[in-house]
Amino acid sequence: MNKAFTFILFCALSISMLYGQKRPNIVIIISDDHSYQTISAYGSKIGSTPNIDRIAKDGLLFNRAYVNNSLCGPSRASLLTGKYSHKNGYKENEKSHFEHSQNSFVKELRKAGYRTSWIGKQHLGDTLEGFDYFDVLINQGHYFNPNFKNQKGEMKREKGYVSDIVTEKAIGWMESLDREKPFCMILGHKATHREWNPDPQDFGKNDGKKFPLPDNFYDNYEGREAAKIQEMQVSKDMKLDYDLKLFKSEADWMKESNFFRMDESDREKYRSYYAKVKADFESRDFSDPKKLAEWKYQRYMTDYLNTAESMDRNIGKVLDYLDEKGLAENTLVIYMSDQGFYMGEHGWFDKRFMYEESFRTPMMLRYPKHIKKSKKVNDLLMTIDIAPTMLELAGVAVPSDMQGESFEKIIEGKEGARKQLYYHYYEDGIHNVSPHFGVSDGQYKLIRFYNKVDSWELYDLKKDSKEMNNLYNNAKYAEKQAEMMRKLKEEIKKQDDAEAMLIFEAS
Ligand code: CA
Repeated sequence: MNKAFTFILFCALSISMLYGQKRPNIVIIISDDHSYQTISAYGSKIGSTPNIDRIAKDGLLFNRAYVNNSLCGPSRASLLTGKYSHKNGYKENEKSHFEHSQNSFVKELRKAGYRTSWIGKQHLGDTLEGFDYFDVLINQGHYFNPNFKNQKGEMKREKGYVSDIVTEKAIGWMESLDREKPFCMILGHKATHREWNPDPQDFGKNDGKKFPLPDNFYDNYEGREAAKIQEMQVSKDMKLDYDLKLFKSEADWMKESNFFRMDESDREKYRSYYAKVKADFESRDFSDPKKLAEWKYQRYMTDYLNTAESMDRNIGKVLDYLDEKGLAENTLVIYMSDQGFYMGEHGWFDKRFMYEESFRTPMMLRYPKHIKKSKKVNDLLMTIDIAPTMLELAGVAVPSDMQGESFEKIIEGKEGARKQLYYHYYEDGIHNVSPHFGVSDGQYKLIRFYNKVDSWELYDLKKDSKEMNNLYNNAKYAEKQAEMMRKLKEEIKKQDDAEAMLIFEAS
């Protein structure tokens, strides 16, 4: 090697190392079905999430972060690609295929020298591309002794509780890296997805509390055709056995994968805990159906919150690791869910609708090098905006076909630029939620349902934050309705959603 070449190589390495140190590490922790209503950083009185709250305490808490398709796989596909479902091809969980050869912000970061990984739940198949390392749950994954598949194609059944395992893998990967290159890790939690199986050590953490019923728990869905036909009600669709673990017999319980996969020692703890729940159930008089619905609601909340405790403790371990290794200052950490979730509002569990509880998702961001104190952000944001924002922060050019809008300005302490939110939900299966698309400007929301029901809805969130009063074709709102129609058409065009345009034009 001649001297000149050695010198050039030395300079290039020095620049890349210097640059490498400046560029932030990125850790995105994405949970599943975790509701902002149960996160204490959002003021929840019913849920306690001290570790998740640490991210908001040192950074930004987004009060108006939204998803473009409120469902597990589609939400993660959009996070990764910065594109709407009709562009990245993953529209629904039941029939879609995610083509991993397409571009993603992680691939762009990797090309720019980042070390990259996805660990835990992704729900987009098991042949990922663009990651130095991946180790993902198969589809939904299991809470106990789950199967994982890694980038070598090896399938492995891991021993233990899923939130502990993904955390251990995440810390293990970060520990394996040299510190010369920045890294981007996405950590996907299975919790708090149905059917809400906590680590047995968290049994009792939220028991005996009296959770107040949301005031629209007994919604009659008047004026809302799609809401009338859904099958996601706590009262009639939440199952006593599958969801609330009151099985008639041990044999029935053993048919459930989360139960039969457990070690016998965990199964014993589950049997003992739910035997007491069953005894309580059997001691009650449920001749009034409302009594049964309310009992189910209390049990749903208890199981859900206990599962969240198991996850929150593990998120704390990742934050502790960053602190201990001196990585916290230059590591941008995002905590988010793949969408919001109903905690009994409208009488529901599950997600899917463009109504606020499932359209909005919890999201917070910490980046101590640039953000020095906690701040609540009320600017509109979509999770497809994360991809271009991460690229901008890393000094990487944003591909022109990414549809998200960077919110780097918000991180710099300035006002966000996003004015409208466009949404499109496709799945036409479980829970019987009619496909729909719509637009929101933060105050007004216009929704077009199609396929199962053929209807429009219009809401004024300032006056009706619970979305109980459909204003579509209300003469007083004629002008606003026309304006929102224009905005919807504008978004459909801008996002190039041909399927929505056909339906819109035929209306
Ligand atoms: Ca989900």
